Amino acid sequence: MSHPSPGPIPFSSQGVYRCPVCRYGELSQMVMMEAFSCNFCDRIFTANFDRHQLQLADNAQPRSWYWNGRGWQGVQQQGSEFGWGLILLAIAFCLLPPTIVWLGAHLFPPLPGSRLAWLPDVWVGLTLAVHGAIVAGFAIEYYQFPVWLFLRAWWRSVLPPR
Ligand SMILES: [Zn+2]
Repeated sequence: MSHPSPGPIPFSSQGVYRCPVCRYGELSQMVMMEAFSCNFCDRIFTANFDRHQLQLADNAQPRSWYWNGRGWQGVQQQGSEFGWGLILLAIAFCLLPPTIVWLGAHLFPPLPGSRLAWLPDVWVGLTLAVHGAIVAGFAIEYYQFPVWLFLRAWWRSVLPPR
């Protein structure tokens, strides 16, 4: 038997779709409702079959996706655009403070052989790590990425079954 070529899949209540939030679980329609839920991250979506759109129902910030026949495309919401300005700001926020610390340590280097000569390098690394973590935290919050569910699933897959 030959496989049918993977053509576009229409968006319908009968289809099975990958969750656009966690990109891991599968969406299934909830009984008697025009809503889908994910079997992994438990997010609930409302569907608009005419517009081929899915909207996150349990989120303060509205988020929508458009089904293009193969996958989900994020629909830009008014007023929450994730523009280049914000990305540049995030990069600057990550790189500027460590650069200043590094510059200070190289303009005024510690005395060679002194006990805290290692401190500036560690401080630069720490500054970079903390600022990177803050930006990552905002990104996780924005995309509503289920970090803990993933860690839990990963942990379960690492542990041997009892
Ligand atoms: Zn999900």
